[in-house]
Amino acid sequence: MDIKKKDIRALTKEQLREFFEKEGDKAFRGNQVYEWLWSKGAHTFEDMTNLSKETRQMLEDNFVINHIKVDVMQRSSDGTVKNAVRLHDDLIVESVLIPTKTRTTACVSSQVGCSLDCKFCATSRLKRMRNLNPDEIYDQVVAIDRESRLYFDRPLSNIVFMGMGEPLMNYNNVLKAIEKITSPEGLAMSPKRIVVSTSGVPKMIKKMADDNVKFKLAVSLHSAIDEVRTSIMPFNATFPLADLREALVYWYQKTKNRITYEYVVWEGINDKRKDVDALVQFCKFAPSKVNIIEYNPIDDGEFQQAKSEAIDMYKNVLEDNNITVTVRRSRGKDIDAACGQLANKE
Ligand code: SAH
Repeated sequence: MDIKKKDIRALTKEQLREFFEKEGDKAFRGNQVYEWLWSKGAHTFEDMTNLSKETRQMLEDNFVINHIKVDVMQRSSDGTVKNAVRLHDDLIVESVLIPTKTRTTACVSSQVGCSLDCKFCATSRLKRMRNLNPDEIYDQVVAIDRESRLYFDRPLSNIVFMGMGEPLMNYNNVLKAIEKITSPEGLAMSPKRIVVSTSGVPKMIKKMADDNVKFKLAVSLHSAIDEVRTSIMPFNATFPLADLREALVYWYQKTKNRITYEYVVWEGINDKRKDVDALVQFCKFAPSKVNIIEYNPIDDGEFQQAKSEAIDMYKNVLEDNNITVTVRRSRGKDIDAACGQLANKE
């Protein structure tokens, strides 16, 4: 990479227009280049065939296009696809395409590694190296959209920010990426089909509510008892459940958007009646639903998925309390592509 040249994708459309005007060309060229970069996903200036040779050369002399590269692509026996994505500085993140009968979901990363230390998550074993730029997040989505069209004959339909990293610790860039994903000049996807999943950063949840965002919110709860939650998500000591709860109530009041709680039930950790009762109480603060997700073992066997009786107890008690609950199977386990398994093993 040429360090003197600027990444052209860091420029807004307005800045591109100004650049061309300063070069004595028409501002309109800025729109053309912007379209190449974002709607058409051009990775070289050479690709921009409606620009003159001179213009392309002039861009080449001034800028680089720092795009991602899908390094390794693995396909699971259940159709799930995992991409190892190489960034311009050779760091790697992973993203996953999850096909079902009716939809294709992209699970994308927001950071290289993660600064949180959830005891059950493989990504937490990696040091957080840096935040992803908006375009690095956007590119993961574009790559999966292409794969979806290629392998499943349909465009991408949903996006979840459940890959590597904590999206709310890289909020500005995640927001910019979502703006591009939802803009007509990007992928024109509906924000209602995007879920941002967080371990729960109260201040940022409130900020999101103030920003009046239109995407959906999921919170990785895993326990509604502080002591238990802190033991598996040490981060909870800094942001205890009372603060989280207050932020979630604020979120609901502002957005009127129901919250999804993601929840894994582990043997001997949160598989007792008191754990379910605490969850039921927590669910009453703001309209919500619970997704019970299967535990995907990571190496050392410290955590075990709870017995099916415990999962049934959760389902029954939640339903008795009129709380919507779904129990979800994992996808892509054979290629380490399931929740919490992303750790750049390859
Ligand atoms: N940092 C964000 C997004 C990444 S994790 C968050 O915490 O929400 C995506 C989801 O996978 C979270 O709900 C997380 O708790 C869950 N998860 C992590 N490790 C897991 C594992 N080994 N098995 C099942 N789910 C896991």
